[in-house]
Amino acid sequence: EPPKRRLPKWLKRPLPQPGMAYTDDVISDLRLETVCESAKCPNRSECWSQQTATFMIGGNVCTRPCGFCSVPKGKTTALEIDEPERVAEAAERLGLKYVVITSVTRDDLPDGGAEHWYDTVLAVRNRTGADVEVLTPDFMGNRAAISRVIEARPDVFNHNTETVPRLYHKVRRNAEYQRTLDLLKQVKDEAPDMPTKSGLMLGLGETREELMDVCADLRAVGCDMITLGQYLQPSPDHLPVDRYVPPEEFDEIGELCRKLGFRMVASGPFVRSSYHAGEMTDHMDSG
Ligand code: SF4
Ligand code: SF4
Repeated sequence: EPPKRRLPKWLKRPLPQPGMAYTDDVISDLRLETVCESAKCPNRSECWSQQTATFMIGGNVCTRPCGFCSVPKGKTTALEIDEPERVAEAAERLGLKYVVITSVTRDDLPDGGAEHWYDTVLAVRNRTGADVEVLTPDFMGNRAAISRVIEARPDVFNHNTETVPRLYHKVRRNAEYQRTLDLLKQVKDEAPDMPTKSGLMLGLGETREELMDVCADLRAVGCDMITLGQYLQPSPDHLPVDRYVPPEEFDEIGELCRKLGFRMVASGPFVRSSYHAGEMTDHMDSG
């Protein structure tokens, strides 16, 4: 248990509501991982009740050492070929209308797991008809791998920038800022109609100017949607929070992003990459 830390009052949330047991059963029954649960996401009851969930495929061990992330690091496990169908079955049993799929980064696999991604998107869509958003790693910039995921025709292609380039060495070690922009650009080049999305965590020590430069860079590669949320330290071993950004400041930054031309902006302390994902996309569809 991490020690109790004092959080500003806007970061206090009600305890998880009851009624989550069925979800937990389905997930454990099918031996799946959800980011909602593994990251102890504060939005879980809200998202699940809106029939949105984020599945993490490719195992729960990551090859990257990101300083903010609580996913275990170390020796990865072999891909399970029935995992795509198990995700599809869970989505069906939970009646999900909007499925977000993410994965650990599999730098140990030649295609970074792209074929497995492809299979999972198709399995979910074929079985449930749900909209599918992919929240992918950077595939080490492997263009063929990225193309394969695009070929699965996800409804939204999401790849997180996480933070400003100056902080990459401690926040997103082994990742490169330019590689992230290149990935988002590749999606637009190969599938101009596919909405692209990216997210950043605030409160890691970035300045307003650095942040707005990143937002402008994202717009320059055609990124349509942006999510901005407060970084929360998952344990004392992870990067400390530099600052709690007040809600008014999130509003102000969100407004600046709208002015930059993002078609959908979610900016607030509890915003996560997949928070209200279905709703954000509905708004995109309607205009
Ligand atoms: Fe799950 Fe994302 Fe919602 Fe959190 S914000 S509960 S990770 S879908
Ligand atoms: Fe976590 Fe993704 Fe970084 Fe892996 S690559 S440690 S899953 S944020």
